[in-house]
Amino acid sequence: MPLPPDFHFSQSSLKDYFDCPRRFELRHLQKVKWPAPLSEPILEQERHIMLGEQFHHLLHQLFIGIPPDLLTSSLRSKELREWWDAFNRSGLLDTLPQNRHPEKMISASWERYRFLAKLDLLAGSPGQRWVIVDWKTSTHRPPSKLLKNDIQSRLYPFLLVQAGNSLNNGEPLLPDQVEMIYWFANFPGQIEEIHYSQEKYQKDREDFTKLAREISGIPAGRFLMTDDERKCRFCNYRSLCNRGDTAGDWRELEEEALEIGNGEGFHDIDFDQIGEIAF
Ligand code: SF4
Repeated sequence: MPLPPDFHFSQSSLKDYFDCPRRFELRHLQKVKWPAPLSEPILEQERHIMLGEQFHHLLHQLFIGIPPDLLTSSLRSKELREWWDAFNRSGLLDTLPQNRHPEKMISASWERYRFLAKLDLLAGSPGQRWVIVDWKTSTHRPPSKLLKNDIQSRLYPFLLVQAGNSLNNGEPLLPDQVEMIYWFANFPGQIEEIHYSQEKYQKDREDFTKLAREISGIPAGRFLMTDDERKCRFCNYRSLCNRGDTAGDWRELEEEALEIGNGEGFHDIDFDQIGEIAF
C-alpha cells in the first residue's frame, strides 16, 4: 500500500515490522489505539519505564549544562542514584568528543522513503570522529553479537552518514568517522563500541531500501500476523487479534528479547528474509 504522505520509518516501527507485520500495520499505518497492558505487573512495569525515562532526562539535563551537583541533589530514587553514580565513575565522558548534542533528531530521505532517528547523544566535530551514544537501563546486558546486528546499531550510524553533510560543514560524513556506543546503567563496565565502515554503509543502504520497498508494496489488510505467539504476550493488540487476553510478565520481557528479538532495543534482524519486490 502507498505509505501515508507523513509516514517515516524509525527503529521502533521497523522492529515492530520484524516482530509482526500486522502490529506494524495496526500501530504505524492505521494508528489503532488499543488499551491493554504490554506486560504485567503494570505498576512494576510502569516504574521500570519511568525510571528509564528519568535517567535519560537526567543525562539530557547534564548535557545542556545543568551543574552536576544540582542534578545529584535532585535525585530521589535509589536506582537513579546508583545509575548516576555509576555514570560519573565510568569515565565515559573523558572518551567522547567535546562537541555534544543531546537528544539529537536526524532524518534522511531517498527514493520516496523518509527515515527518522532520535539519538540519545551525538558527540563530534566536522572532519573528526562522530560518536552516537545510547543509554540503556535494561536489566539484562545483551550479547555483543546480538547488539552488533541490532536494527538500531545499523539504522543510527547509517542515517548519520546519510544526513551528515549539515553537521560536517557541508562535506560528506564518511562511515569510517562514525561509531556507536551503548552504555548500560546496570552494567557500567560493559560498554559496547561498534565501529561503522563503508562496507557496512553500503550493505545497510541496500537492506533498508529493500525493506522500505517491501513494506510499501504490501496491500492494506495483507500485513500478516506473526507465527510466533510468544510475541503476542507483550503486544497490546492481543485481544484484537484473538491471541489471548493475559499480558506476559515484564521481568521475562528482556529475557525473551534476547531470544526472540523484542523489547528494549535489541533485535537480531535477518535482512536476508526480505524478498525482492519488482517495480
Ligand atoms: S497480538 Fe500478536 S499477531 Fe496481533 S499484532 Fe500483536 S504480535 Fe501481531
